[in-house]
Amino acid sequence: MTEIESLLELQELDAECLALETVLRELPIQKDIDELEDKLLTLRERLRNAHLELDRVRKEQKHGEWEAKDITETIDSLSQKLYGGAVTNPREIENMMNRLNKYKSTKNKLEDNVIELMERVETLESEINKDNLEITQKEAERDRLIDKCRSEMGEISSRLADIKKSKEKIRVNISDSSLKKYEQLLKDRGDRVVVPIKGNICGGCHVALPNSIIILAKPNNKITRCENCGRILCWRG
Ligand SMILES: [Zn+2]
Repeated sequence: MTEIESLLELQELDAECLALETVLRELPIQKDIDELEDKLLTLRERLRNAHLELDRVRKEQKHGEWEAKDITETIDSLSQKLYGGAVTNPREIENMMNRLNKYKSTKNKLEDNVIELMERVETLESEINKDNLEITQKEAERDRLIDKCRSEMGEISSRLADIKKSKEKIRVNISDSSLKKYEQLLKDRGDRVVVPIKGNICGGCHVALPNSIIILAKPNNKITRCENCGRILCWRG
């Protein structure tokens, strides 16, 4: 393998390396995992709030039930007194009946409120169940993506290690000065730096090359560079 062929192969490997490193940095799957984590955070926060609300509503319901029970007892005892025949004073009877009606109206309101609270408890419980289910599903999806991400990263890392070994082998065929030039060019330009001569045109900057350069660049001749862009030229006869 000539030095220029080795340089071309090195360039191919460097390009693959760069592409893989970019993929590794920007694994789309990692974005999906981050998005899922964000959603899970929101869901867990919503679930926590729903539990707090459920506790509060249940306490309020209990309290309402006690109040309704108390007032029922009061109504019962007042009714017994009223209709038991012990009270005969008409004014007192009227007074007791007024109180009784007031208690009954309060009791109705309390019972209506308890029913509303019970319905709210049911709604909250169903929301909590839905959130729990969604959290379980999202966690499973996230775990599956994490596994996939790990395996993809593993594959890429192992390919990168292979490329590194191949690069070491190829570098042996290239002189130190050529390597230095190549690496400096790669650093400066960041893209292809070993380019073919197309007709008499530089494959990098598309400027016409003098014949003297083309002759030098022909196979087995020394490494030549374009005078315009500085790229290493490669003759493909
Ligand atoms: Zn050029």
